[in-house]
Amino acid sequence: MSEPITSLIQHPYVPPAGFDAPQPGVFKASTVFFPDVAAMRARDWKHKEGYTYGLHGTPTTFTLEERIATLEGGLQTVLVPSGLAAIANTALALLKTGDEVLIPDNAYGPNKALAEGELAQYGITHAYYDPMDVADLAARITDRTRLVWLEAAGSVTMEFPDLVAQVRLCRARGVTCALDNTWGAGLAFHPFDLDGAGLAVDVSAHALTKYPSGGGDVLMGSVTTRDEALHMRIKLTHMRLGLGVSGNDAEAVLRALPSIGLRYAAADRTARTLARWAAQQPAFAQVLHPALPGSPGHAHWQQLCGAADAAGEGAAAGLFSVVIHERYSQGQVDAFCNALRLFRLGYSWGGPISLVVPYDLHGMRQRWPAHLARGTVVRFSTGLEAIEDLRSDLAQAMVTALSVA
Ligand SMILES: *Cc1c(COP(=O)(O)O)cnc(C)c1O
Repeated sequence: MSEPITSLIQHPYVPPAGFDAPQPGVFKASTVFFPDVAAMRARDWKHKEGYTYGLHGTPTTFTLEERIATLEGGLQTVLVPSGLAAIANTALALLKTGDEVLIPDNAYGPNKALAEGELAQYGITHAYYDPMDVADLAARITDRTRLVWLEAAGSVTMEFPDLVAQVRLCRARGVTCALDNTWGAGLAFHPFDLDGAGLAVDVSAHALTKYPSGGGDVLMGSVTTRDEALHMRIKLTHMRLGLGVSGNDAEAVLRALPSIGLRYAAADRTARTLARWAAQQPAFAQVLHPALPGSPGHAHWQQLCGAADAAGEGAAAGLFSVVIHERYSQGQVDAFCNALRLFRLGYSWGGPISLVVPYDLHGMRQRWPAHLARGTVVRFSTGLEAIEDLRSDLAQAMVTALSVA
């Protein structure tokens, strides 16, 4: 007979099978049990045929992986602890000493920092290309180029590239291309079928931190592919680097996923309404939102995302930036951001709360892009608040800080 404490730890009760409910259960583990040594030796962690160790997957993480693969139109997905880890996992799996990676000049900043930091230390070189000039990308591809990053729309300045042409170019030159698909989220366009005839990126990296989580309270990323061999390279690196995610975090994303379409559309509607309003304000020299005619790459957005919804208005993330006219001082721009009440100062996006971040573009880009007005770039991400309240908030902050030039 065991002591109660032992029975408490190794309890014989097993609940009946067959429980079925809207949400899948949350499985949490480092240790996973094996029935015998032969099973322990035979268990294959690579192919999702069983369980070996928490780091290599649980029913909860496998379920989320399958749903993200479906969202993206891919076949295989690995989960990582952040969107940046998805970028790093991809780069470290596909690049070695002597290789070169090409990154758009308007890429998510930490992607550039990884190239300038660890990748450079490992003897992997990088070059930045003009996201709005396919010829510039073509000219930079050499026989050392092993990976091309793509981003649509670009971070902060929101230029929408000719993604179809970029991917065709990579295909023609035999270079692997990886899209940072956080903006599109699998909803605005199909990364694995860009032209309706199967034109696909090789890798789609996604910060699940943003729309899939939707709460501003989870960090997670994913790397999705349609090629088993490519997936295996990424998965082996993922295993060797020890990039696991927590069961509770996976459950939080699983809980938010069913409403992602509604949340994305709501944030889109709000961002577009406010961006159109902002375009009427003289304090703003330029409004950057790919769905606005005149915004850099609008035609490319129209081509790729214009038919993504039933109403024919296209789809876009809830993000837009303004270039505050250069006649305003940095102090006035800061005062404008500080005066906002509903738009909170904070990084990230895709959650319920609207956010604002002022950027210093000089430190971020090789040179000031010709298609951008001079001034200070401020990025807004729209949450799920009422549009009128957000518009009033912008208006009061403008009166407070930007009325006198
Ligand atoms: C936020 C973001 C990431 C990184 O996601 P984290 O989970 O914050 O690491 C990567 N790419 C883009 C475009 C992002 O907006």
